[in-house]
Amino acid sequence: AKDQWEVDPEELILGQEIGSGQFGLVLEGSWRDLKVAVKMVREECMSDDEFKEEARIMMRLSHSKLVQLYGVCTQHSPICLVFEYMENGCLTDYLRERKGSLSQDILLGMCLDVSEGMAYLEMSNFIHRDLAARNCLVSKNNEVKVSDFGMTRFVLDDQYTSSQCSKFPVKWSAPEVIRYCKFSTKSDVWSFGEFGRLSAIQLFVNAGLRLLKPRLAPDSVHLLMEWCWKEKPDDRPTFGLLFHELASLSDA
Ligand code: ADP
Repeated sequence: AKDQWEVDPEELILGQEIGSGQFGLVLEGSWRDLKVAVKMVREECMSDDEFKEEARIMMRLSHSKLVQLYGVCTQHSPICLVFEYMENGCLTDYLRERKGSLSQDILLGMCLDVSEGMAYLEMSNFIHRDLAARNCLVSKNNEVKVSDFGMTRFVLDDQYTSSQCSKFPVKWSAPEVIRYCKFSTKSDVWSFGEFGRLSAIQLFVNAGLRLLKPRLAPDSVHLLMEWCWKEKPDDRPTFGLLFHELASLSDA
């Protein structure tokens, strides 16, 4: 019997290249009438066997604010990871392209989407470990979804995984991660605080371009960011609470 998480290579049609990342090329493709993104994993970039175990767990994680992993294709080399296709690409590029044109409501909605996806991971006791705008993708209808959860554990490039090294994402990392590599849902919460900063910068650029008085992040968002950046992990809020707070702000 075939493993449920194994994608039959016969059913997978590969299209053109859409990007490249930590593990290698990303192609667009189709699988059983679904448009998909396929990550082709270069062998020297990933600890394969450990990943295959973990893929089963990752496939069970399913939520509208997470980029779905549909399956893996491990029979040939390179192994392929088959994901939900996100038409509007990565959030970093999305924000860069729309610099200054996104309203406060849209930016708040983006934070709300991420907090909802993360609240689901929190409930599932799954630590993201690399939450950042570059690991969020934007759908056709401009929903933001969290991607690449847990994947840094399989990166073999120690320039990326060691906090002493050049590619380590210092800006988004909690102090206990930088000091002791102590990852937790609360270190994810720290990283989430950066989305608030990112939104504030967008609003600032927005206002600047229109020669208006720069509008900074609304006080309530600022308070939430500060809360995410408490030194002690236990003093930080949960994603459940952050989602709730952000939802009540966007209703207001
Ligand atoms: P990394 O392994 O470094 O995180 P990414 O996941 O960022 O690599 O993939 C690199 C690029 O490929 C992204 O910036 C994005 O443009 C594209 N991409 C990745 N996953 C998807 C997807 N599910 N749908 C559409 N484009 C994707």
